[in-house]
Amino acid sequence: MVKPALVAVDDDVEVLKAIERDLRDRYRKDYRVLRAGSGAEGLEVARELKRRGAPVALFLVDQRMPAMSGTELLVEVKKLYPDACKVLLTAYADTAAAISAINDVGLNHYLMKPWNPPEQRLYPVLDDLLSAWWSRARLPFDGIRVVGSPWSPASYATREFLSLNQVPYQWIDIDQEPSIRELVTASSEGGTRLPVVLLPDGTQLVAPTNLEVAVKIGIQTEAKLPFYDVVIVGGGPAGLANAVYAASEGLRALLVEQSAPGGQAGTSSLIENYLGFPSGVSGADLALRATVQARRFGAELLVGHEVTGIRQNDPYRIVTFADGREVSCYAVVIATGMAVRKLEVPGIEPLIGAGVYYGAAMSEAARYRGRDIAIVGGANSAGQGALFFSRYAHHVTMIVRAAGLNPTMSRYLVDRISDTPNIEVMTRVEVTSVQGDAARLERVTIRNVDTGEETMRDLSGLFIFIGVAPRTERLAGVVAMDEKGFVLTGSAISRVAHGWRLERDPLMFETNIPGVFAAGDVRASANRRVAAAVGEGSAAIYSVHRYLTTV
Ligand SMILES: Cc1cc2nc3c(=O)[nH]c(=O)nc-3n(C[C@H](O)[C@H](O)[C@H](O)COP(=O)(O)OP(=O)(O)OC[C@H]3O[C@@H](n4cnc5c(N)ncnc54)[C@H](O)[C@@H]3O)c2cc1C
Repeated sequence: MVKPALVAVDDDVEVLKAIERDLRDRYRKDYRVLRAGSGAEGLEVARELKRRGAPVALFLVDQRMPAMSGTELLVEVKKLYPDACKVLLTAYADTAAAISAINDVGLNHYLMKPWNPPEQRLYPVLDDLLSAWWSRARLPFDGIRVVGSPWSPASYATREFLSLNQVPYQWIDIDQEPSIRELVTASSEGGTRLPVVLLPDGTQLVAPTNLEVAVKIGIQTEAKLPFYDVVIVGGGPAGLANAVYAASEGLRALLVEQSAPGGQAGTSSLIENYLGFPSGVSGADLALRATVQARRFGAELLVGHEVTGIRQNDPYRIVTFADGREVSCYAVVIATGMAVRKLEVPGIEPLIGAGVYYGAAMSEAARYRGRDIAIVGGANSAGQGALFFSRYAHHVTMIVRAAGLNPTMSRYLVDRISDTPNIEVMTRVEVTSVQGDAARLERVTIRNVDTGEETMRDLSGLFIFIGVAPRTERLAGVVAMDEKGFVLTGSAISRVAHGWRLERDPLMFETNIPGVFAAGDVRASANRRVAAAVGEGSAAIYSVHRYLTTV
């Protein structure tokens, strides 16, 4: 736990040394004793402590300081630390100032100089004040803090990145903490570029990219080796299974993930059909277990890098990242999965991350406690989302275009939805526009697809689950795909149409580029389930082994 600070401020060097000595003698075990040689310096110390989120229990400040008096300083520090104990050191002539400070700054005590012996004239007073302070102190969070606006898409993106990577952080709503707003505005060059990520070492990131956050919080972002047997693109269940099997079978394996290990599955609140978990397993838990397992076998996992290209330089394959970096290997597995389809209706773009979300956005659930929200979609993931949010929201409307919930929705989900009183299923309806004010969702227009009749609904949150599309936009022109953008592999590769020139046939999971494989949801004709992705991920490594015997 961080020790609370005791801050002594005096412009008289000798007096300051004496205060510091006496404070340290008695309190150093439980507190940090800090000192400042002027009012301005004292204020800067207080601001820095606030920026770092450090608690302050006491300001012990001399009244007589030329540029900024003790009371003037206490007026300012009170804005930063309203609960800290405030004690003035005074000479007899300052008594009137001290008495008025009792009202002006809520002064807790004034001490006459000199205070010797401290056992009689200093410690009893401070002991009392500090024990009262402990009883009301709310010690701040000792880790990463994200300062932002709940209605800022960039703030949401950073929070989502941290929560998907299961990095604990404290969220500070800038509108609820005026003192933080002042500091953050000062440190983001006078503007309000959000979010600001405050790190425990006192440094901060203003409106950072995911990669910048990853570097700062110690997630691996640099490949350790110059060369790998296999590079896996994507850290969903398929990619994680690739990594576990490749590394456990002795291959030098590097997995590159742009966002967070877990992929789509990582966003699922409860996966109930995965073998071996009779009560279900949350996507986050499964992702964490798989990540630990892959690392334990020696696979490297790079997070925060998007792969933007793969090229052939026989016998090597070169994988390119968005920042221009490259990594070489013998074989590549594309496991980029699928991403949610976008809802294209007027007004939606500026509200994404500010009331409108794709997928479950579980980190946002608490914000919608007691509010009305809607889920767009009628398939399994929409059903899971509705059940998840029904635990928080006052009312959940499922907006379903078809005549009922998707026939492929698992029976247990259908039953649970109909048993949940605060979920309403609206069918044969679609969203036609969304409206918001001050960049926050306020209402949604819903049209009946049969009658054309439109109704408005006041909503705080709209969570969209309208299907998914393969994430292959970065691989266009690299490997052969079907008309929907899914990667073709194995027996689906035609020698003529896809330019396969080797004597042997493509291996299972091999694309039309020898040594480049695809597994999981991104592969044409895959069964899009967690277990299937894991199965493909592990089986693809068998093909990688066979390929490696040929290079
Ligand atoms: C909300 C939800 C609930 C679900 N519930 C269930 C369930 O209960 N049971 C079930 O069996 N299935 C469920 N599914 C489906 C299941 O999650 C998927 O079938 C499975 O995750 C597919 O795994 P994958 O590894 O192929 O791809 P994905 O999980 O899509 O992972 C792909 C990964 O690749 C990364 N990536 C993409 N492009 C790049 C790039 N260019 N560079 C670097 N990284 C990249 C992505 O960020 C992502 O992490 C659910 C899906 C969703 C969305």
